[in-house]
Amino acid sequence: MLKGIAASDGIGIGTVVTVKETEIKYEPRAVEDKEAEKKRLKDAIADFLTRTQALAEQMEKSVNAKDAEIMYGHIAMMSDPFMGQQMEEQIDSGACAESAAETVLNMFRDMFAAADDELTKQRATDVEDIKTRLLKILLGIEDTDLASLPPDNILVTRDLTPSMTAQMNHDSVVGIVTESGGMTSHSAILSRALEIPAVLSVKDAVSILEDGSRVIVDGLKGEVLEGPAEEDFAEYKKAEEKFLAEKEALKAYIGRETLTADGIHKEVFCNIGNPDDARTARERDGEGVGLFRTEFLFMDADSIPSEEDQYKAYKKACVNLQGKTVIIRTLDVGGDKEISYMNIPKEENPFLGYRAIRWCLDHPEEYEKQLRALIRANADTGGNLWIMVPMVTSVAEIKAVRSLAKSICDDLALPMPKIGSMIETPAAFIMADKLAGYCDFFSIGTNDLTQYVMASDRGNSKVAYLYNTYDPAVLRAIKGVIEAGKKAGITVGMCGEAAAAPELIPLLISFGLDEFSVSPTSVLRTRAEIARWTKDEADRVAGAVMELETAEEVKEYLDRELARG
Ligand code: PEP
Ligand code: MG
Repeated sequence: MLKGIAASDGIGIGTVVTVKETEIKYEPRAVEDKEAEKKRLKDAIADFLTRTQALAEQMEKSVNAKDAEIMYGHIAMMSDPFMGQQMEEQIDSGACAESAAETVLNMFRDMFAAADDELTKQRATDVEDIKTRLLKILLGIEDTDLASLPPDNILVTRDLTPSMTAQMNHDSVVGIVTESGGMTSHSAILSRALEIPAVLSVKDAVSILEDGSRVIVDGLKGEVLEGPAEEDFAEYKKAEEKFLAEKEALKAYIGRETLTADGIHKEVFCNIGNPDDARTARERDGEGVGLFRTEFLFMDADSIPSEEDQYKAYKKACVNLQGKTVIIRTLDVGGDKEISYMNIPKEENPFLGYRAIRWCLDHPEEYEKQLRALIRANADTGGNLWIMVPMVTSVAEIKAVRSLAKSICDDLALPMPKIGSMIETPAAFIMADKLAGYCDFFSIGTNDLTQYVMASDRGNSKVAYLYNTYDPAVLRAIKGVIEAGKKAGITVGMCGEAAAAPELIPLLISFGLDEFSVSPTSVLRTRAEIARWTKDEADRVAGAVMELETAEEVKEYLDRELARG
């Protein structure tokens, strides 16, 4: 079993086709007839532009209009006279067309790769793609014919580039495995747009997986099963059928208001890690963003992102959400979230230590930078950006954040965004009634709340038996927080993984949760589960569950209720 990143959900069963890279080899030569060499380069660029235009048009029809933009970006880059001039200057100083193109494009690639923000970094992949295709044209190398792939194939490649996607016959590809790329890479974006199950960043996949062998790609778990046995085929075939049938049935919920069976309005928001995910959230019919984990922005950089870079990212997320609520969490560093350049010293108990708001309030200059970026982005996008504070343990912390935000707003003469607290520590839920007086909303972080209530490290397998959100202690905390928030008249959401657990939905409806924030792929399922319950039925289940004594009893009871259909 090979493991990687689950980048596009679903299960693909098929035959491996590896895309082996054609070696681009040439001997740099000194040119005598420089004008003829420049003409050769110009012709190659013209050919590149014609082919890319055709690819973009094909892509517009077959993939998704927005993905063709990547190709149009390639056209814009190569049509820029500056690019051609730079290459011609190389030829003037004696280089052949191939080395001229390679030198200049490598320079651009390195420049993009060194950028601070993730989006500019991504452009390095585009330049690499352009370089490969331009050199192939110059050297007369024709690509593998991705348009006529055999049916039911699993495409295994180092990276899935936009141009490969444009050429490939999507109907025949049932799974994608790549050696590189994370959740925000082009490979991930494109495979999700095509709705092809994909597992990315599988080490040495191209050499390990053999052409013609049968494999199973599990895009839900991020696993690739090599040489499956007969019973594996049957098992995964069943899982695939179930996944597809559920997906089809869930389409009925697209564009629908989230309502309980007796018409109580709820909201299903999305958890995201970068501004582009906000677009995915919208496409998946999320009604807003309930958690933007800004630490990813910090993790993807070499140093703390500037106020301007942060402002652009937050603004982009709001623009992508087109006026819907976007809840952005301020930096949650520490615990298991290490950001190397911040040099936070190793601690005996990192989860109980210098983390999140504790670090931020201790670094007001950095925190103010983030708050200013958020306040400006809110003001420039119509006022739907809410600021959320992680790991709050005392009223003093939320008051300090408010006071910092207030002085920035006064300074910039901008409106104060809504400010709320994550409820993920026992202190926060015990003091929820008081905290609510300083918060515009609460969002329950069940991932941490569970570990802190149960005193069991969320990453320690030895105490995993205790780390259980179904434990009555955690459920009591959740109930208490929702009740305190409702009593104070503020919105209460949940952005921990528990918000997407179908079994817990009747409890959360009964307690009065307003907003469920889940991963974009879980939006429709969560909406459908909410629609199954009336408040009375949910109250009946919650009443019985709150009398139970152990997590096992709770889980068993809820499983039985869910199975009743
Ligand atoms: C949580 O703790 O539930 C949460 C949403 O935050 P994170 O998982 O990022 O700690
Ligand atoms: Mg947390």
